[in-house]
Amino acid sequence: MTDLKNFFKQHFGSWPVHRVQAPGRLELLGNHTDYNRGLVLSLAVDRNLEMASAPRKDGKIELVSSAFPEKERFACDRIEKNDSAAWAGYVKGVLLQLRQRRVNFTGFNAAIRSTVPLGAGMSSSAALEVATALTIRRLFPFTLSPGGIATPPKRNSRGELPPLSKPEKLALAGVCRNAESEFVGVNCGLLDQISCLFGKASHLIEIDCQHLTVEHLPLPPGVGVIVCDSGVKHELADGAYNALRRECESAARALGAASLRAVDAARLQANKTRLTEREYQCAYHVIGENHRVVCAGRALWDGDLAQLGEYLFESHASSRDFFKNSCPELDLLVDLARAQPGCLGARLSGGGFGGATINLVRESEAERFSQEIATKYEEQTGRKLSPSRCRLVDGAG
Ligand code: ADP
Ligand code: MG
Repeated sequence: MTDLKNFFKQHFGSWPVHRVQAPGRLELLGNHTDYNRGLVLSLAVDRNLEMASAPRKDGKIELVSSAFPEKERFACDRIEKNDSAAWAGYVKGVLLQLRQRRVNFTGFNAAIRSTVPLGAGMSSSAALEVATALTIRRLFPFTLSPGGIATPPKRNSRGELPPLSKPEKLALAGVCRNAESEFVGVNCGLLDQISCLFGKASHLIEIDCQHLTVEHLPLPPGVGVIVCDSGVKHELADGAYNALRRECESAARALGAASLRAVDAARLQANKTRLTEREYQCAYHVIGENHRVVCAGRALWDGDLAQLGEYLFESHASSRDFFKNSCPELDLLVDLARAQPGCLGARLSGGGFGGATINLVRESEAERFSQEIATKYEEQTGRKLSPSRCRLVDGAG
């Protein structure tokens, strides 16, 4: 916090009034299922985006981030795209979504610092969106009702805002998701934003994107989560993500279903001839992922870690062979992981086409795993690898 406060002071000449934080997330299972109204198992991790803020009186909004050299400044009644500070689009998108829901805000300053790596599959974008929504709530208190209309929250006797209720968190997740799809242009599902808001220490988050329910499942002790960033950068906004989404949606239409959530493996096989080869491959992956999330939940309750891990390997193979959102570096990381003692499971996590793998490793072997996989990956690709341990943490606040 001191660093953040100083960073704010350095840019704005005064101390911030509020501070919020939002964690990064990893997807354990359920790849590209969210926008198909499917199931996901995710976790909020101990990488944090922090935003410090203070109101200002001239109707201007000024943003600064330690991750980018360029500041962004605009009037709160002129919120527009600016290619020379594209990163601020995630903030602006949230502001516009909130305004559409009749949240009133005037000028403010905000400074951002973050340990969520950018574009590495940990969803730094959702962390930024969620931190923005929470900052506005602190500066200009509002409550989102289920209909999306802003009403003033009731403060307690000490003047504090009430904690966010579950429905409000879901409404905020929707605001943030819409910001990313409508303003930034990545037509994402709700996984990232829900995970960021609903994280719980030592627990996995099970999300049903059709019924919008969130449950927490304890991660058994003795298992470490290790993330390996392949160093290959993905660029989700370049259209690859949206293209996959279109394949899934046209597959559902061809099957006469509202979404792939409504389709099981038998129905897919029986109607294979109605789909293009690519639609079939995409549907096969998504339907398999939904199934694996259900089965993984059972394995978790049963404490069957070997089976849980096996679902991760299966998921990766499905990404590689059917959905085709892997890449040679991610495939290599998973193959290297599988060969390590104590590795329960490994797969790509997130959108794909680069980014990171998530690995479940027995705690006793975690250190050796990290050293071995780093050495071997570097030998074979010439790329540096810094495997890093993630703790499961509480959500944004
Ligand atoms: P990720 O998988 O990390 O979410 P995205 O491409 O979806 O990758 O989002 C990354 C983008 O989010 C960055 O290019 C930047 O525009 C924005 N962003 C993330 N973290 C920050 C930050 N700390 N400061 C400013 N912008 C950020
Ligand atoms: Mg993102």
